[in-house]
Amino acid sequence: MIKKYQTIINETKGFMSPEEGQGLYDFAQKASQRGPGLEIGSYCGKSTLFLGAGFQKNNEILFTIDHHRGSEEQQPGEEYFDPDLFDDRINKIDTLRFLRTTLENASLEDTVIPIVSRSEVVAKSWRTPLTLLFIDGSHTFDSAETDYLCWTPQLIENGYLLIHDIFPDPSQGGQAPFHIYQKALNSGLFQEVAMIQTLGILKRR
Ligand code: MG
Repeated sequence: MIKKYQTIINETKGFMSPEEGQGLYDFAQKASQRGPGLEIGSYCGKSTLFLGAGFQKNNEILFTIDHHRGSEEQQPGEEYFDPDLFDDRINKIDTLRFLRTTLENASLEDTVIPIVSRSEVVAKSWRTPLTLLFIDGSHTFDSAETDYLCWTPQLIENGYLLIHDIFPDPSQGGQAPFHIYQKALNSGLFQEVAMIQTLGILKRR
């Protein structure tokens, strides 16, 4: 899978290792045999590409939500600020145009539906059961927990919950994704399936 998209993957900004990307693809392919999936945190479309390629295999749909204004740590002056993403005309980050380029280059426009909004706003009227949920949005505790609470009820039985940036050791990274990962396990609603580097994969019972 990786080979076909290698050039686009290399050209796409993002924070996803090849091994984690392959994991996204594998579970997307499995999940999409049963219906659509949803990603929170599209950014420039790197993870969207891996997931979308899996959903395309089964002619299913992947929704991907992002307000495209960048998360807290990507704002000017912050650790992950990238000037390429800054739109001087509006003085804001804009990653939507990068996502669109990625989807077009990867021929995924028949598979991936971008939703430009905050995830909790979309959740208000969401009625479509999901076979896979990938949480990789804002990494503040409040946002991660909101994403978890708003969206996990939409997962079907045996649907996959994927969470990125899990660092059990606080010295290695922020704790919000690990917090919701543990919350999922402690709820008794999910069982562990795999951990690929910082990508946690759970299955809804
Ligand atoms: Mg991430």
